[in-house]
Amino acid sequence: MHDFDHDLVVIGGGSGGVRAARVAASLGARVVLIEGQRLGGTCVNVGCVPKKLMVFAAGYGDALRDMAGYGWQVEGARFDWPTLCEGRDKEVARLNRVYRHLLEDANVKLIEGWAKVIGPHSVQVGDRVLTSRYLLVAPGGKPRRTSEEELPGSEHVLVSDDIFTMKELPRRMLVVGGGYIACELACVMNGLGVEVSLVHRGTGLLRGFDECLRHELANELRMRGIHLRLSAGLDRVERTDTGLVVTVEDERIEVDAVLQAIGRIPNTEGLGLESAGVQLTPGGAIAVDDAFCTTAPSVYAVGDVIDRMQLTPVALAEGTVVAHNLFAGEDRRMEYRDVPTAVFTSPPLATVGLTEQDARRLHGHVKIFKSTFTPLRHKLTGREERVMVKLVVDGPTDRVLGVHVMGEEAGEIVQGFAVALKCHATKAQLDSTIGIHPTIAEELVTLRREWVPVA
Ligand code: FAD
Ligand code: NDP
Repeated sequence: MHDFDHDLVVIGGGSGGVRAARVAASLGARVVLIEGQRLGGTCVNVGCVPKKLMVFAAGYGDALRDMAGYGWQVEGARFDWPTLCEGRDKEVARLNRVYRHLLEDANVKLIEGWAKVIGPHSVQVGDRVLTSRYLLVAPGGKPRRTSEEELPGSEHVLVSDDIFTMKELPRRMLVVGGGYIACELACVMNGLGVEVSLVHRGTGLLRGFDECLRHELANELRMRGIHLRLSAGLDRVERTDTGLVVTVEDERIEVDAVLQAIGRIPNTEGLGLESAGVQLTPGGAIAVDDAFCTTAPSVYAVGDVIDRMQLTPVALAEGTVVAHNLFAGEDRRMEYRDVPTAVFTSPPLATVGLTEQDARRLHGHVKIFKSTFTPLRHKLTGREERVMVKLVVDGPTDRVLGVHVMGEEAGEIVQGFAVALKCHATKAQLDSTIGIHPTIAEELVTLRREWVPVA
């Protein structure tokens, strides 16, 4: 046995790194975690948490508009961006402190600084060199930016990180992309009263999601007044005296801000991975096996940097697997099937399991049960927002393969159905479940008639 100073050195104090460090320490390992910026990583500082607070803020805008139908008269209501930013930043700072305490309580030693791998068992932070039996690399990712060659005027373009330090709310914003971040932030801005255009290169939003959800969401965004340009790209962005002019093929759109949300790239640059023999995938992520071991046997990696599923609960679960395997002698594997996910648009959508398209491809004979309706809440508000619930069921076995929901609290609804999918629930079992009335969720246990698409 070599004599290392530590059992585990973790690079990155985000979701995956902190979880792995805490679990490893609880199993008796001597653990050091190195973080270059703020504890909590993307999720806490420039992701899930501040984003969801802004989603709530946008939702209050909707609620104000909806209230009149219920008899509430609210005069003089106006939105104040600095108040939201101050509250949001306070909560983020509180969480930074919570993370610090979590590490202290778990006996994980925190080192603040940028880490560089200098060998299969060694990491450098400033002028300190740490040696460890294992290294866990969890540095996350960063927003992809276009170069000046790809898009003239790229220097005027914001990325999602910038939204959380933006001093003023723009009057008009153009959002580029059709993924989670573009859709969510377009809805946030729209809900806060910003005039929003969304330009996406694809024919539909949220590639990979169920086609019905994709279609319904695009309709809802249009109905909310978001100017949606699909199958289109930006030619250039120019600054003028009155704002930014974005050329989108035949159209010139004047806005005050452009937000690009075109995916994220793994944070591997300058990390020194080559010194340990850690190889990357062709896409630039760290290549790992099914136990998260890299091409260097003592180096592990989890989270966004391995680019499997860029979701906080997935990074947490991956970190837990690594810690248990290394320090509890277990042989756990991560199950990526039936991972539920939500997109916090307005309305939100959530999904677990297979899309109709994937189910048909993988299972052949599938049955679809689907309903689209105006929710009870909007009978009085006059808002034309629709709800969609959909079940994808395996024909021969009756097993539920996918649950897809668009509508208020879709994430809260689908989280419960994700448990049912894990238990291999059948459609007959959903049918025998008593609903909670009146809710949107009850529709999923009362879908009786198979949906047959109109030819
Ligand atoms: P991160 O959380 O990014 O942590 C990596 C940490 O490593 C960072 O703190 C970084 O500073 C540090 N680091 C990097 N390099 C070094 C180095 N060399 N030395 C020291 N430290 C280093 N997921 C959800 O599940 N739900 C959501 O609602 C959701 N919303 C999102 C909204 C936005 C706008 C974004 C961008 C992401 C969102 N995500 C969401 C995704 C989620 O935030 C990520 O999947 C998750 O944070 C990944 O965790 P991680 O541990 O891999 O990396
Ligand atoms: P996504 O991968 O979700 O979407 C990227 C979008 O950008 C796609 O629509 C893609 O189009 C488009 N795109 C990619 N490259 C280009 C390009 N060069 N020019 C124009 N368009 C381009 O990434 P996001 O940045 O939205 O989010 C990153 C990840 O963070 C998500 O995948 C998700 O895992 C996580 N996240 C999770 C959230 C949640 O759980 N609610 C919220 C926010 C983020 P195409 O489809 O054609 O490839």
